[in-house]
Amino acid sequence: MSFTRRTFLIGAGSLSLLVLSACVDEPPTPTRSPTPTGTTIPTPSGFLRSSWSTDPYALGSHSFMAVGSAPEHRDTLRQPILNRVYFAGEATSSDNPGTVLGAQASGALAANDLSTVAAAGERIAIIGAGIAGAEAARVLSQQGYDVVVVEARNRVGGRIQTVTGKGWPGPVELGAWRLRSVEDNVLLTRLGSLGTDSVSVPDAIFRSPTATVTTNPVGSTAVASAVAWAAEGASDLTLSAALDQSGAAKTANDTKVAGIDGGPLLGQYLSSLATVYGAQASDLSAWYGLDQPGNIDTVVSGDFGTIVKDSLTGSTTSLATAVAEVSYSKTGVSLRLGTGESLRADRVIVTVPLGVLKKETLKFNPLLPFAHRTAIAALGFGTVDSIWLKFDKPFWSTDAAVWNLVGTADDITTWYNLEQITGDPVLVGLVGGDAALRVAKLDEAQLVASALTSLRPFAA
Ligand SMILES: Cc1cc2nc3c(=O)[nH]c(=O)nc-3n(C[C@H](O)[C@H](O)[C@H](O)COP(=O)(O)OP(=O)(O)OC[C@H]3O[C@@H](n4cnc5c(N)ncnc54)[C@H](O)[C@@H]3O)c2cc1C
Repeated sequence: MSFTRRTFLIGAGSLSLLVLSACVDEPPTPTRSPTPTGTTIPTPSGFLRSSWSTDPYALGSHSFMAVGSAPEHRDTLRQPILNRVYFAGEATSSDNPGTVLGAQASGALAANDLSTVAAAGERIAIIGAGIAGAEAARVLSQQGYDVVVVEARNRVGGRIQTVTGKGWPGPVELGAWRLRSVEDNVLLTRLGSLGTDSVSVPDAIFRSPTATVTTNPVGSTAVASAVAWAAEGASDLTLSAALDQSGAAKTANDTKVAGIDGGPLLGQYLSSLATVYGAQASDLSAWYGLDQPGNIDTVVSGDFGTIVKDSLTGSTTSLATAVAEVSYSKTGVSLRLGTGESLRADRVIVTVPLGVLKKETLKFNPLLPFAHRTAIAALGFGTVDSIWLKFDKPFWSTDAAVWNLVGTADDITTWYNLEQITGDPVLVGLVGGDAALRVAKLDEAQLVASALTSLRPFAA
């Protein structure tokens, strides 16, 4: 079996992937983890959460490569139908899937494809006012088309959801928030030009009940080894299976780093992966699953939503207008709206999340071509959620910016300490995959209680 350059890059990317944990240059520096002393954690004075899996206009957070899917499925999904129906959005990006950057580029790509066949002044409908729809609208309105963006929610931004005010010291980002300074450089430059600040994230710690270390080389090494082993195989398998069958999980289990067992360190790394991909190792493809190379080392500290609003300035946006059905033919398209009205256009760009396409809450008439439906079924759609807690003053004993729990039963095992990033006494918990689905079932009181329990090891 031959492997493309893409396969190589994915394998290589996994080595340097993510969450400040993959740095293996420095040896871990252990300190004894403080034994929780029964310190009471103060009740947060502010609480906000996302719940993307239950959001009817997302039904998850972003796409991932499940076993049986391949990058070609993303390419297929963005193929125009009759030159009337175009697709964009993060799931259609094979360069930067699952990201803001990929979604934005996909919007420009669909717009430019469309403009090669559209006559001047045509009416173009865009379904969805997230970053992909906004970018498509920006490109097409600059080219003189009559662009109307139809958005189901009463806000723009989609999976970029910035909450401002409401007693919080700065913007609260309930969707995308973390970026990679190298790969996302163009995006960061554009954000900077709009006055939206971003900040690099300094050091992380990994705390088990017995010790604390500053790096987790075990997880990244095991995953890289499993991915490299799987790349030589005749068929794809899950990352968990690759970890087991390659022996990488056993090697990790047999390792002990500065007083912390290797098994829990591998578990922590896989939990971190779930906060990036929204999926478990038991769902991710070992061949293609780790398709977001680069280090997440930056967070957007300003209003991320500004980029979407700025891109929409040249077009008309109709909020609170869900599209129920797209009818298409060789001569045009008609959108049936949730209100019962319809909207006719020459062409349409569909940017709804893959979760919406999978659940078929947006219908197509006639049905989408078989190749599109195959791609929609093959690609996975995961869940990442965030929990924002505001405190009157810091109660924690560590000045690390990112806290990772190792070897505990908590669902929320990654916390960002904004005191070290923006100066605010705010903690942001991230949870992905099955843990996110469990957390989504908790009511507010239960979730706060669960969050505070997971924070106990960090209390002074
Ligand atoms: C919690 C979370 C964390 C993330 N973290 C990161 C990160 O750190 N870095 C990163 O780069 N990316 C991250 N992402 C992914 C990133 O947010 C997405 O890839 C990107 O924002 C998707 O943009 P989009 O335009 O493709 O889709 P969306 O932003 O989802 O836009 C689609 C729009 O379609 C609308 N819509 C849906 N159904 C209908 C309908 N029937 N009629 C009309 N409108 C409809 C929706 O309301 C939405 O506004 C994260 C996502 C989540 C949820």
